[in-house]
Amino acid sequence: MEAKRRFFEEPLAQADPELARCISADESRQRSQVELIAPKNYMSKAVREAMASMVVFTTVEGYPGKRYHAGVENVDAIERLAIERAKAMFGAGHANVQPHSGSQANQAVYFALLTPGDTVLSMDLSSGGHLSHGFKSNLSGRWFKTISYGITPDGFIDYDTMEQLAREHRPKLIIVGGSSYPRAIDFPKVSKIAAEVGAVTLADVSHFSGLIAAKEYPSPFPHMDLVTTTTNKNLRGPRGGLIMSRDAAFGKKIDSAVFPGIQGGPLPDVIAAKAACFGEALKPEFTEYARRVLSCARTLASGLSARGFKIVTGGTDTPFTMVDLRTRGLTGDVAQKALEAHGVTTNRNLVPQDREPPNVTSGLRMGTSAIAARGMADPEASELAEIIANVIDRLAANPGQGLEIDVNIAERVLTLAERFPLYPT
Ligand SMILES: *Cc1c(COP(=O)(O)O)cnc(C)c1O
Repeated sequence: MEAKRRFFEEPLAQADPELARCISADESRQRSQVELIAPKNYMSKAVREAMASMVVFTTVEGYPGKRYHAGVENVDAIERLAIERAKAMFGAGHANVQPHSGSQANQAVYFALLTPGDTVLSMDLSSGGHLSHGFKSNLSGRWFKTISYGITPDGFIDYDTMEQLAREHRPKLIIVGGSSYPRAIDFPKVSKIAAEVGAVTLADVSHFSGLIAAKEYPSPFPHMDLVTTTTNKNLRGPRGGLIMSRDAAFGKKIDSAVFPGIQGGPLPDVIAAKAACFGEALKPEFTEYARRVLSCARTLASGLSARGFKIVTGGTDTPFTMVDLRTRGLTGDVAQKALEAHGVTTNRNLVPQDREPPNVTSGLRMGTSAIAARGMADPEASELAEIIANVIDRLAANPGQGLEIDVNIAERVLTLAERFPLYPT
């Protein structure tokens, strides 16, 4: 082989063994652990194939039919497919598939509709909101004025306070949706509150967009003006963002806010993978998947509840359930570590009226999008509830021995993971 081309053909393990080892270690970890991290999911082989395609090398800028480089007709066709499928999936009037992430999708909405200093009404972070909805250390909180509504003591959105704050502050934008709110949002009610004060409405449905596509969660359209979502969580696609609007009228503003507003060229490989993912979401098999995600989340919640755990709001309408550990006298932090030591990954999360700081918390969030993608169903969700209860009960009985591993439990988790192999080779 010519020396000047050799670097081009070498496999990673040979070219960069140190990096190859890290990648391989994470692959092994993923194969052997059961992931209940709520945003976590796996793409199908087909979606991965679209993402690994040579389309990545095609440089584009602008939108289909209005690009700035030559050689873009195939990427135009790909992006049009992604747009049409996204619109069909949500019943949207307009879709922009270019945001690099969920946070950038939200940032583009801010940029399209607001001027720095404008007021936004959103759910506070400790009630389950998201950093990009006006948190003080995020750009959205630094440049805009955020007013927050929260949840009632039993964990449901406090619509009365939302209405009161809307009347008092007359926000330009009202945001619903978040990262740890486990219940269906009353979109018609939010729309009514917004109409009264002339606010635009945004639903950030990142954590349950797959359920919406499968009609297993109430549709934000036609009630909301705009919808943003990540494509990599419950939707089972590549890492990225998506913005949709009910009326095409918002489309122009959104498009120019994404490009040239906050981004340069989009990622054509990711757009191809989004098209593949949205294509999957329009098929009946995806409805079966979404139903299984929801059913697993409910089985996990009821299984833990049967073992005496307190479930925030008493159940779930989303792909995750929130467990309040205060009745066990434990923090989310120690429970997360003990579960991880046994091969189950979850994340600590604030629960209503939590007095612990965000890096400790009194709760755990557990999502089922990833286990359902691996093929697991209710029997496995039940088994996981039992495993989790066993680990946590053991921890509560012996707080000092938190990280001592019970090999029988760890073995049970590994067996479960191996029964549902990832990308079997
Ligand atoms: C995950 C998430 C985001 C951010 O997505 P990134 O792709 O990580 O930027 C935004 N909003 C909500 C509600 C999310 O859950």
